[in-house]
Amino acid sequence: MCTLTPEERTVILNSIRDIPDFPKPGIVFKDITTLLSDPKAFKTLMDHLAERYLGYELDYIAGIDARGFIFGAVLADRLGVGFVPVRKKGKLPYTTVAEKYSLEYGFDEVEIHIDAFGENGCCTTGEPAKVLLIDDLMATGGTAKAAANLIDKVGAQCVEACFIMELAFLNGKKAFPAPVYSVIALD
Ligand code: AMP
Repeated sequence: MCTLTPEERTVILNSIRDIPDFPKPGIVFKDITTLLSDPKAFKTLMDHLAERYLGYELDYIAGIDARGFIFGAVLADRLGVGFVPVRKKGKLPYTTVAEKYSLEYGFDEVEIHIDAFGENGCCTTGEPAKVLLIDDLMATGGTAKAAANLIDKVGAQCVEACFIMELAFLNGKKAFPAPVYSVIALD
């Protein structure tokens, strides 16, 4: 299994910018736009993820709206597998399956195309498609859990969820139904 060297971890960590009090007071927003605009940091990250997931024999990568699309689509291309978007409600044009999840105040909803992973979520062998779920950051884990439930609902299998950053003190991965890999976990 490939491991991130301390130098690589520092390159990635230093490329992510903290924005205090965004989008509201008390939240420290982890801004990955500065990682994306830093070619060395972005390549270091994508090389690491490609190396890690090469042996997983994935069928698809599912990325969460919207920052998960960037990392997911690049990784899917690197691994030669399909990319599937998990979108906020009302954005996908074909028949969808939806899942609600709770936020600090109220609810949000994510959707996936019913045939995103082929008929009944199965690949040509008849086995459930093996899917890696990816997003930029895990906080409470609510968004990722809803996305994993969608993968399950359409008949595929979420084999792991991957995050560039995890706010580990929020314990988001505790209630997650599959293994979780965080490139950088913050305590
Ligand atoms: P959660 O459902 O609580 O795990 O929140 C995860 C989603 O919210 C991800 O799509 C993140 O992009 C976003 N998010 C939550 N907290 C932050 C944060 N501090 N900085 C950047 N993005 C965040």
